[in-house]
Amino acid sequence: MGLEIIRAEGMYLWDRSGKQYLDLIAGIGVCCLGHRPPRVVEAIRAQLDQYLHLMVYGEFIQTPQVQFARLLTEQLPSPLQSVYFTNSGSEAIEGAMKLAKRHTGRQEILAFRGGYHGSTQGALSILGDPRWRDAFGPLLPRVGHLEFNTMESLGRIGSGTACVVTETIQAEAGVIAPDPEWMKALRARCDETGALLVLDEVQCGFGRNGSLWAFNSFGIVPDILILGKALGGGMPLGAFISDPKIMSCLSHDPVLGHITTFGGHPVCCAAGLAALESLLEGKFIDSVQARGALFSRLLVHPGIRQVRRRGLMIAVEFADPAICRKVIAGCIQSGVLVDWFLFAPHCLRIAPPLIIREEEVRQGCAVLLEACEKFS
Ligand code: PMP
Repeated sequence: MGLEIIRAEGMYLWDRSGKQYLDLIAGIGVCCLGHRPPRVVEAIRAQLDQYLHLMVYGEFIQTPQVQFARLLTEQLPSPLQSVYFTNSGSEAIEGAMKLAKRHTGRQEILAFRGGYHGSTQGALSILGDPRWRDAFGPLLPRVGHLEFNTMESLGRIGSGTACVVTETIQAEAGVIAPDPEWMKALRARCDETGALLVLDEVQCGFGRNGSLWAFNSFGIVPDILILGKALGGGMPLGAFISDPKIMSCLSHDPVLGHITTFGGHPVCCAAGLAALESLLEGKFIDSVQARGALFSRLLVHPGIRQVRRRGLMIAVEFADPAICRKVIAGCIQSGVLVDWFLFAPHCLRIAPPLIIREEEVRQGCAVLLEACEKFS
């Protein structure tokens, strides 16, 4: 986009010329409390006065990591009580795939078409669109890509499968939520075969889907949960979370099953802790459904084919990608930041900070409708 942003606060960013932008993408789902939330900035400052990097992760007890892991696990169902912090969502996926292989002693990893899990070689191997993988082969062996949300796919999961990895709600595919029956059947098939179920909530978790964790609304619990993006309150942080009984196999044979120098950096954990406290105390998640529903109500135009939405994950679909690109450019020109999706060229992405107010939803939609009028 070539925008040079010199300041960001709450729902807004400003470029060098002083032009103001309303942020409807939140750095692709990262800034769920808006930009520079005061409590997060304060927690970062306080941690700067304590210590920065002390030692590689796990060697010393670092209080911000422990406190954040404790608050996270208090919000999670009983098996998900051991948190491994990483630098990114991709590294969390890498850790989860290694954990599944090590725990099950199996080699096959299955994932779904349309899924995005990161850009490192392991995460890329399971990414669900060959156009993004093919230039980088050879990638991981023994990986299979199945059709998402289709019962027939589940028969492919078998006694050689270490894990099945899926986004709970596919984001880059253009906000595709699976049927709850399918999710339950996927969970049941993993139980039947002994494969671990890995749910990637890097985009849909942390309140964006309308509840703290997206798996809540499907009535299932994963064996490994992947978090990232909003987890660090605007700082780089990811995590894979599992049952301590499963996670403990990374502690022997070899002794350090996953090593990270900066994963769980104390400043990032202090920021993430403050962000989660604010999210829970500010009751922002309560308003996600209402704000999302207002977007759906307002975004009606002959040029818009469909609005797909879960909470404040929104895909606005147009007849063709060229129109979509023009509408995106038109919105940005008019001071409203929206974006595109990796695997859904017909769709425009809206994923605003969860603190968005009603008048900002109305303001953003008015600009978007104007752009639709002009370009679709
Ligand atoms: N999983 C999902 C669902 C994501 O959207 C992303 C990032 N877009 C990742 C994993 C990878 O996270 P990161 O970019 O932090 O490595």
